[in-house]
Amino acid sequence: MPGILLEGKPIAEKIKEALKTEIESLKAKHGRGPKLVAIQIGENASSAVYIKNQKKAAELLGIEYELKTLPESASQSDVEALVGKLNDDRAVTAVILQLPVPKGIDAKKLVNEIAPDKDAEGMHPANLGHILLGKFRIGPCTAMAVMELLESAKVNLYGKEAVVVGHSEIVGKPLSLMLLNKFATTTVCHIATGERGVLPEHVKQAEILVVAVGKAGLIKGDWVKEGAMVIDVGINRVGDKIVGDVEFEGASKRASHITPVPGGVGPLTTTILMRNTVELFKKQH
Ligand code: NAD
Repeated sequence: MPGILLEGKPIAEKIKEALKTEIESLKAKHGRGPKLVAIQIGENASSAVYIKNQKKAAELLGIEYELKTLPESASQSDVEALVGKLNDDRAVTAVILQLPVPKGIDAKKLVNEIAPDKDAEGMHPANLGHILLGKFRIGPCTAMAVMELLESAKVNLYGKEAVVVGHSEIVGKPLSLMLLNKFATTTVCHIATGERGVLPEHVKQAEILVVAVGKAGLIKGDWVKEGAMVIDVGINRVGDKIVGDVEFEGASKRASHITPVPGGVGPLTTTILMRNTVELFKKQH
């Protein structure tokens, strides 16, 4: 029997409904609501799409959204000066740096310059540290989105074999800590696992499989354990189609639950960005 489709949109809608109500009551209580500021350096087609989506999502929820643009020629210190100003501005709740940034700009350093209590993406080392310690309300949007998907399926992670393929700072690493916090027996696979040829062995053990690599069809359908829950974070363009990292057709026959690509993790990430913004507002007040 094919696995149940784990779609992100209905979960995002539920979170948004709750956020809308919460934002209204925060506004009534504090006389103003959260404000998210996005910084864009230079022009980039993919960040233009993200910005459009963020603006729409924010405004629908009653979060003020402002875009600060800097020219392609902006220097590291120009951007740091802007971040400093936003950090000091009490009217600004949260700041997001749109990626990619032009050559010569150190994005990682900039993310570290954003005050931890204005860090909309949960990527400041202080916020990442809270995940390690197991107490956090904001976090990297994609990793948080994966946890929401797992929770929506009411899966009990305690003692389960979880395998995360991909160990990036924005997805794989924080996610593996979140799974550990829930007492999943967590294995993290990465490029070296692949190069050593032992990726299938690990994947075959997974009761919970999360893949965030960016290689279409990396995970073969017959590697998926019967009854596994499969979350495919990958986004790959193949011809005119967007596909994930997991061979969907074969995997969906074996999995108990599986995310579609597109339509699984993706629709949740912007919603989590908004939730982070609201959490930061509450922290600041
Ligand atoms: P990344 O490039 O930073 O990291 C890729 C990871 O895959 C690394 O840990 C690398 O070691 C590992 N890897 C590479 N080849 C491998 C192999 N053969 N076997 C095992 N591991 C291998 O990528 P990222 O930023 O974490 O993104 C991963 C994917 O998720 C991309 O397709 C990206 O577009 C997608 N993504 C989706 C969302 C979303 O909202 N749905 C958000 C962020 C990223």
